[in-house]
Amino acid sequence: MSGSRLLDELIDSLRCLPGVGAKSAQRMAFHLLERERAGGQRLAGALDAAMRDIGNCSRCRNFSEDAVCRLCANANRDEHVLCVVESPADLAAIEQATDYRGHYFVLLGRLSRLDGLGPAELGLDRLADRLAEGVVEEMIIATNATVEGQATAHYLTQLAEAADVRTTHLTQGVPVGGELEYVDRSTLAHAFGTRS
Ligand SMILES: [Zn+2]
Repeated sequence: MSGSRLLDELIDSLRCLPGVGAKSAQRMAFHLLERERAGGQRLAGALDAAMRDIGNCSRCRNFSEDAVCRLCANANRDEHVLCVVESPADLAAIEQATDYRGHYFVLLGRLSRLDGLGPAELGLDRLADRLAEGVVEEMIIATNATVEGQATAHYLTQLAEAADVRTTHLTQGVPVGGELEYVDRSTLAHAFGTRS
């Protein structure tokens, strides 16, 4: 309780951020009010617009405010290669660490009976349609090296085989149990460059 209802609400709202507890939420709120009003206004505007307008690309399921995202719409990217990842964070990690310039498909999860995620939730019917278009020649399976990620990879391999599309995997350097998002850049670049 701070004496201001709005301040209490701000502190409480900041706690939805990962790793932010009561103490850091309070520190952030005071910082914004004391020293960073312009930055706070900008943050509020960006948050509002992003939460309202960002959905998922109809082609790759990555975050996008447009029906088709900028990566899918980019005619300079190689449409013969499709990299399948679990999350937008994995996509971002690959974009930042490698010189990959093909296309992506984002599962927004991994096969997990426990979480109620099956092929339909991961958009695999849409992925199958994509492969059936006959344009993709190589599908890079870049799911995480976790048990569920590997089960998902196995399913994806069968999907590609059914469509007669070659699959490659990031075999070297990504530690068992590792999530791509947390693998360092040079390791990820190496794993990508030596995929087989
Ligand atoms: Zn897209």
